[in-house]
Amino acid sequence: MRFRRAHRRPHVRNGSRLFATYAAASLVPVVALGALTLHSYREDAAEQGRAQGLAQAAVIAEMAVAPALSNEGYIGSAGLADGLTAEQATSMREATEQAIFRGSVLRLRVRSFTGRVLFSDDGSTTGGVPVADPDFQAATAGESRAEVIGTEVIRVLQPLVANASGQSVGVLELYLPYATIADRFHSQVSRTWWRIGGGLAALYLVLAMLAWWTTRSLSRYAARQEYQATHDALTGLPNRAAFRARTEQVLAAAVRDGGTGAVVLVDLNRFKEVNDTLGHHAGDELLRTVAQRMSAAIGPADVLARIGGDEFAMLLPGRTATEAVALLREVRDRVSDELVLEGVPLSIEAAFGVAVYPEHGTDVQELKQRADFAMYQGKRGASDIVVHSGSDAAHPHQWLVVQAELRHALERDELVLHYQPKVTLPGGEVCGVEALVRWQHPQRGLLPPGEFLPAAEHSGLIVPLTEWVLRRALTDQVGWTATGQEWTLSVNVSARNLEVPGFPRLVTDLLAETGTAPDRLILEVTETALAADTDEVARAVAELGGGGIGISVDDFGTGYTSLSHLRGLPITEIKIDRAFVADVARDSQSQAIVRSVIELAHGLGSRATAEGVETAEVRRWLAEAGCDEAQGYLFGRPVPWPQISVTAHAEPEGANR
Ligand code: C2E
Ligand code: MG
Ligand code: MG
Repeated sequence: MRFRRAHRRPHVRNGSRLFATYAAASLVPVVALGALTLHSYREDAAEQGRAQGLAQAAVIAEMAVAPALSNEGYIGSAGLADGLTAEQATSMREATEQAIFRGSVLRLRVRSFTGRVLFSDDGSTTGGVPVADPDFQAATAGESRAEVIGTEVIRVLQPLVANASGQSVGVLELYLPYATIADRFHSQVSRTWWRIGGGLAALYLVLAMLAWWTTRSLSRYAARQEYQATHDALTGLPNRAAFRARTEQVLAAAVRDGGTGAVVLVDLNRFKEVNDTLGHHAGDELLRTVAQRMSAAIGPADVLARIGGDEFAMLLPGRTATEAVALLREVRDRVSDELVLEGVPLSIEAAFGVAVYPEHGTDVQELKQRADFAMYQGKRGASDIVVHSGSDAAHPHQWLVVQAELRHALERDELVLHYQPKVTLPGGEVCGVEALVRWQHPQRGLLPPGEFLPAAEHSGLIVPLTEWVLRRALTDQVGWTATGQEWTLSVNVSARNLEVPGFPRLVTDLLAETGTAPDRLILEVTETALAADTDEVARAVAELGGGGIGISVDDFGTGYTSLSHLRGLPITEIKIDRAFVADVARDSQSQAIVRSVIELAHGLGSRATAEGVETAEVRRWLAEAGCDEAQGYLFGRPVPWPQISVTAHAEPEGANR
């Protein structure tokens, strides 16, 4: 959960940023529209003001000025060129006095066409608009003009028509108060402005709401997209990419602040089997259940991710290897609780590989490889929770190098086989040999199998490698048979070999090629391989054993197989692991185990062979306990076969004590 929320925050931030941009962008046209409307409305208002001024002036001219002039005397075609008569002036004064007094006219002048001031309400004979002014000229030509001067005054120049002929006789220059006209328009403008402004605000609100809704659904969509890109659809856990990103973050912080923690890889055993036999639906159900159980077992700071089919990864910040293992035991126990799928009760087992940082690396890839390697070793060996050992052979880079080199080694025939004798008890005669592969590395010298087999098994190279070992060993066997030795040949095969469908066929073909009787060959399979995931292994073992080839259970006692795995298999030998053999002469628990394994082997109708016999004391104890055969440094180390007879017999009993 923490994970998800942490990842959604950027969307919210991006969403509000996007919304702010949208909101700001849609404000621009709204404001521009408002400003344009206001401006043109102001223009209209001024225009109307002028028209109003003109109309008012026309009324004054017609109703007051013209009668005053024409009542008192004749105005000829020359107009008022000669000035006003005294009567005209008096009646003008009378006519305008009222208007001036009431303030509906601020100033009034009667001008001749030449610009002379013939009458002025204040009695002056100078001032007024210059004759050259276009408005004055227009008025002499018979056109009225109004002009708003400042904010207070409107100036009107208009032709003065004083007689019935309608001919203009001069120019009337009027100054009217603009304030009252303007006030009316201003209140009209502001009313309109409020209406328009309100409309625009509403429009803006709608636009902003649209933007908000759009950005919100966009950011939700983006969040959903990212959730899908970083989560596994089936289990809802973070996916491989998200795990990587998160681990990188945590590792960077750990490097900075000196933190520690563990990276774990988890692989389910027998998942393929469930999928194949119960169907994908059951497989999905299993994965979901396992995911839930694991999530429930880990802490709030831990991260669990599904990184592949039946592969999971964990990041356990702040835990040491010991703490991680303790937690994984808990996880394992929860995971293995019985689960009923399609009516079939199942117990799910998982393998866990652990790498800790900074000890095993501070790079995600490196840690994952090491955890993978450890997990893989767990699958091969006895333990289901394995911490990376830190050994050089286990170094993942080394491992990749080994894989590449091993490919060439097979082509260049750099592998060699050494043989270790197996002797009968109590007699001590060599009755067989076990082929053990080594690599004559051009730079690193003779390498033991532990240095390269894990890499071979993990890469699939084990298939051609085993074929090479079988072919070479059977050929060598022809050699010692020719010298009169009747030894059996034991060859180790891994679980991977048994899973390859054509393997039994390959073995029988090689036997035929070298003319070897099947009962001269013994294939050693580790206990863990027999317990492995698949029916294929059991089928291959049954087929090989059925053909008369010996089947030996190697390293018995170290695996965690239930004995039921052995039932029904054609087992001819059980090899007791040297871990129990080493101190069997002294340790009573080892004695109890070895005794019961010998009994088990006999009960199954097979031989019991002790591995790793190094002392005569152990040899004696084993012989007394009824062990059939023995192998170990006491009788001979692995050597090229021509040296065997010599070594086995030349070494006096107890030489290695
Ligand atoms: P393994 O099959 O259990 O082989 C016995 C190992 O124990 C050999 O190690 C052998 O050298 C060692 N050993 C024998 N006697 C003694 C003893 O008295 N004391 C001690 N301490 N060790 C003793 P090696 O050769 O290093 O092989 C290790 C493992 O590698 C083998 O264990 C086997 O599982 C695997 N292996 C070897 N060759 C092959 C091969 O050709 N194919 C496959 N698949 N696995 C192989
Ligand atoms: Mg073996
Ligand atoms: Mg062994």
